Amino acid sequence: MCAVSSPNSQYVVAKFGGTSVADFDAMNNCADIILANANVRVVVLSASSGVTNLLVALAAGCDNDKRESYLKQLRDIQYAIIERLNDANVIREEIDRLLENIEMLSEAASLATSEALTDELVSHGEMMSTLLFAELLRQRNTDAEWFDIRRIMRTSAHFGKAEPDTLQLHILAIEHLHPRLNNTIVITQGFIGREEKGRTTTLGRGGSDYTAALLGEALGLQRVDIWTDVPGIYTTDPRIAPTAKRINTIAFDEAAEMATFGAKILHPATLLPAVRSGIPVFVGSSKDPLAGGTVVCDKTENPPLFRALALRRKQTLLTLHSLKMLHARGFLAEVFTLLSRHNISVDLITTSEVNIALTLDTTGSTSTNGSLLTNALLTELSTLCCVEVEENMALVAIIGNELSKSKGLGKEVFGALESFNIRMISGGASSHNICLLVPGKDAEQVIQTLHRSLFEI
Ligand code: ASP
Ligand code: MG
Repeated sequence: MCAVSSPNSQYVVAKFGGTSVADFDAMNNCADIILANANVRVVVLSASSGVTNLLVALAAGCDNDKRESYLKQLRDIQYAIIERLNDANVIREEIDRLLENIEMLSEAASLATSEALTDELVSHGEMMSTLLFAELLRQRNTDAEWFDIRRIMRTSAHFGKAEPDTLQLHILAIEHLHPRLNNTIVITQGFIGREEKGRTTTLGRGGSDYTAALLGEALGLQRVDIWTDVPGIYTTDPRIAPTAKRINTIAFDEAAEMATFGAKILHPATLLPAVRSGIPVFVGSSKDPLAGGTVVCDKTENPPLFRALALRRKQTLLTLHSLKMLHARGFLAEVFTLLSRHNISVDLITTSEVNIALTLDTTGSTSTNGSLLTNALLTELSTLCCVEVEENMALVAIIGNELSKSKGLGKEVFGALESFNIRMISGGASSHNICLLVPGKDAEQVIQTLHRSLFEI
């Protein structure tokens, strides 16, 4: 289908997130990382930390005082970097021009905002960080070329969450980007693109990882390096279990499973383009590059039985009991129809002959206490069965491989947890996880105890 083949290059794309380009010193660390590896030829940047949020706030429209304050904060972030550059005159003019644009667009947004205007405004964050960084590299006598990613990142017109055209990207990247790589380091923007009519789009918050992975795929690069503020992916959150160990290599499916269950790791879905084309993704900290990191790839050799523990707090457990369920048909269907009518998505579920226990999926919910239960729903449910609600539970997910085929789970998992009340157990549906529901107050201790049993012996 695709006429242009991938070049299969030895080059690497390095992406630096907002905190990695937050200020001049952080940017200098990034430059050190790039200069330490001659294969890094494509550099994708986020906006400096805080900038996208300020631009989003401006795009929503606000009163004059707020606008002035946001504009000043934006100017301060950029100027703090400009002032540290040796020969800042040329770059100052360019940044001033972008800041003026931002001011003009945000005034327009205060009168009438739109999704297209928002994306146009928000794209200025990545434009500024890349211009400043390219200048910083030049000052360090490095041949760096600033490149507008919109020349090759064609997307749908779904502003705020545009879908990239990967075929076009492949063709255009080979035509416009690839020839440059032998001679220079290309500095370009993550997160932004352009739709058919030429208007700027964005790929969704945090979209710069996605850009880097897409470029890795389009150019057939050797590796995608994601530099962020944590040195890789850990067996569990080190703030809960300080003995958590860094995972050196992890399969994409396992990383995705961890994210699903609440691990605050970078979103694996954004890495998919690289992983599906067999390009490994390295994740490390730009503040501490020598600390190493984690490599995410399609498959790992000898995947371990236990990989990680994840924790999701603020879970609601619903227990439904009805004698009508005894040998009945259609009772589950009735319950689920009702839940779906109330827009409830179920997360975990276990059933016995006359009981159903389930937890609610709060993903995407804006409810602040994590509870999605309304009185209307409870009243309707209670016409079908007895309902019990327990709030403030925590879901502990044990993530691993072939868990459903393993023999030793009883001792290692349940043996270790004998002094805890495990309110619900769900496993067997996926061989990648076993989920335990425990009272919220016990969550940290359960994680620590399980971590000791599964990862420290
Ligand atoms: N600057 C954008 C954001 O904050 C994109 C990114 O950082 O990946 O969402
Ligand atoms: Mg970011």
